[in-house]
Amino acid sequence: MRSLRIALDIDGVLADTMRTWLKLCNDRFDMNLTYDQIDRWNFWRDRGIDEKDVEALFDDAWEDWKTLPPTENNLSRKVELLHEFGNVDIVTARNSMTITNVTNWLDNQKIRRNRIVVIGPDQTKGHLDYDVFIDDSPLNLLDIAGRGKFALCYDQPWNRDISQRENLLRVRGLSDACARIRSLLNSRDE
Ligand SMILES: [Mg+2]
Repeated sequence: MRSLRIALDIDGVLADTMRTWLKLCNDRFDMNLTYDQIDRWNFWRDRGIDEKDVEALFDDAWEDWKTLPPTENNLSRKVELLHEFGNVDIVTARNSMTITNVTNWLDNQKIRRNRIVVIGPDQTKGHLDYDVFIDDSPLNLLDIAGRGKFALCYDQPWNRDISQRENLLRVRGLSDACARIRSLLNSRDE
C-alpha cells in the first residue's frame, strides 16, 4: 500500500477548543451562546464580537491547555490508526504564542505525530504537500478540494453548509476518517 501524507488539524478536530472558547466568551461578554449556535465560520461577526477578542479568547483557551478537552474519547488510539496509512503531521494555522501549549497538550494526550507544521493564522492549507487533509475549517476544505486534493470535513456545526463531492467527504469522528481513507486506497488500487 502506498504511504500517504496526512495533514491532521488540531483545533476543532483533535482539541475541542471551541467549547472552552465559548465558555470564556460567555463569561467575558455576558452572553449565552451555545455550541450549536456556532453555525458559521465567522459567526462572531453578526454577534458584535471583535476579531481581536476572538483571537484573544482563543489564546486564553490555549493558555489553560491542561483543561482543554479532546473532541473524542480514545483520541490517542484513533490517531495511532491513522499512522497505518502513512505519515501523520499535525498541521495548524495559528500565531506563535500558543505553539508550546499545543505541543504540551499533544504530549499530554499522547498524540503521536511525525511533525508539527505551523502556518500563519490567516493562511489556508491547500498549497501544502499532503494527500489527505482532515480539517473542520470551511475555508481550508474548499481550498484543499479546489486544488484536487482529498479533504475530509470533520463534522462541526460551523461546517454543515459544506457540500460533499468526490474529493470532499464529511466524517463523523476519526474512526470514520480512517474508514474513508481505507476506501480511498481501495478504490485507487482497483
Ligand atoms: Mg480547525
